[in-house]
Amino acid sequence: SAPEKIDTNPPSGFTLRDLGGVDNVKRQLKDHLVLPLLYPEEYTERKIPIPRGILLHGPPGCGKTVISRAFAASLGVPFVEILGPSVVSGMSGESEKQIREHFDRAKEVAPCLIFIDEIDVIAPKRDSAQSQMEKRIVAQLLISMDSLAMEKNNGKPVIVLAATNRPDSLDPALRRGGRFDTEINMGVPNESMREMILKALTREPRLSDDVDFSALAKKTAGFVGADLKDLVSKAGTWSMDQFREALEKQAMEEETEMDVDGSELAKGSRM
Ligand code: ATP
Repeated sequence: SAPEKIDTNPPSGFTLRDLGGVDNVKRQLKDHLVLPLLYPEEYTERKIPIPRGILLHGPPGCGKTVISRAFAASLGVPFVEILGPSVVSGMSGESEKQIREHFDRAKEVAPCLIFIDEIDVIAPKRDSAQSQMEKRIVAQLLISMDSLAMEKNNGKPVIVLAATNRPDSLDPALRRGGRFDTEINMGVPNESMREMILKALTREPRLSDDVDFSALAKKTAGFVGADLKDLVSKAGTWSMDQFREALEKQAMEEETEMDVDGSELAKGSRM
């Protein structure tokens, strides 16, 4: 059986409330992820197959990782995370073993969610795969995906959610039925989405009364969530800069007063 050391705790610290402008993605994840994980018997009864794999794609920084973690946290089901780059960095044979062990562990703790971040690194098109090793890793992933059929796992579902910036570079065999047959596209947010993201990102910090979210959303065409987050944290830094400058100015004024006092004193002592 799979090593106990593989962490299956759902992530904490990030909730769906922290995300903005992702209503459409949330709706799709509810249909394809939440329903089957929480009510597998309804699918069995209706003889409807449960989704096996969901491919979440979109540009870097659009929130693929955070939305996956936030969903896992809100579902409260075990969560097995596989990071593409760390899987392929192993020695030959190690990578396949890691994939196998993570999938085995997931089956033990099912119903559960597997999250594969940067799946394109693990599963490039086999004809463009550089080495025999890469080809073997893709093959292992296909075998592992096929092993998740519910009837092979006491009717307990394991759903794989995978994120990528480059869906076209994936091996097409992965996108066939019974594997990653559901795709959700998270594009660059539009103006109203940016406004919602900005609002979600500024729930905590105290804001000045004149913040105009719709004007900010207009001015930030092309920004993804990660860019907007940088903007908000810069605003925080600027506000602290202003505070520091005010402090320094005050300190300087006090020093001048001291000098004046000092010279008065000196004058006095000379007398
Ligand atoms: P990459 O492909 O580079 O891994 P990604 O799409 O997985 O990017 P994340 O790492 O999930 O992007 O997002 C980067 C950061 O941007 C997150 O830490 C999060 O704080 C912020 N962010 C992204 N999208 C949103 C959003 N819709 N609402 C609020 N914050 C967001």
